[in-house]
Amino acid sequence: MQADHFDQQKLLALAAEDVALAQLAHRARTLPELAAVEAAQEAQRTLADDVVRAETEVRDLDREQKRLEADVDTVRQREARDQARIDGGATAKEITGLQHELESLKRRQSDLEDQVLELMERRETADAALATAQGGLAGAQADQERAEQQRDAALADIADATSRHQATRAEIAGTVPSDLLKLYDRVAQQTGSTGAAHLRAGRCEGCRIEFYGTELATYRNADPHTVLRCENCGRILVRNAESGL
Ligand SMILES: [Zn+2]
Repeated sequence: MQADHFDQQKLLALAAEDVALAQLAHRARTLPELAAVEAAQEAQRTLADDVVRAETEVRDLDREQKRLEADVDTVRQREARDQARIDGGATAKEITGLQHELESLKRRQSDLEDQVLELMERRETADAALATAQGGLAGAQADQERAEQQRDAALADIADATSRHQATRAEIAGTVPSDLLKLYDRVAQQTGSTGAAHLRAGRCEGCRIEFYGTELATYRNADPHTVLRCENCGRILVRNAESGL
């Protein structure tokens, strides 16, 4: 293919834009902010589970406390009733029986009081665990919001830069003859990156292969308007004063 030597030079600027666009796309995919958002979401899920567990524990203890309080009431009522019967003139035999029962009720009462104390301690621990989990969850939510804001800001920067480079690329592409541009785009698709590379100091800057002897001589002797291709990577080789020819 033949193309104006000057038009061929434009392909280097086009390739530079494609490299910049590829780097921006890569940056958008591998932003550390993306991982930070994911980590914050994961932390939040774990802490939300902790809150649910702690709330369940507190609710269970509440239920147990109500049950114990009801038991204490029952024992107290029993004691009062027995005492009233003793005071109200029961027979000696009945009094002996009632006193036995009162003793057993007192033991039961003291047992229940121990259980209430133990329950209060467990409740204190559960309340503290709930407060810690809730605090942790609030912190994780704030972390996630911050991480999302940072991610969005980074993505917005990338989007800005991308549209700037796309505009520049379109501007350059608009000045390249269509058959040369078509070739460039086809090669770019094949290489997965750029369609042209600088031949610099006898080396293809696209694939880094160095040319010697007859190969270099072929490039040297080629007409400036002939479109050269790298034999290794297929890119259009753009020549200028730095090409080492
Ligand atoms: Zn090459």
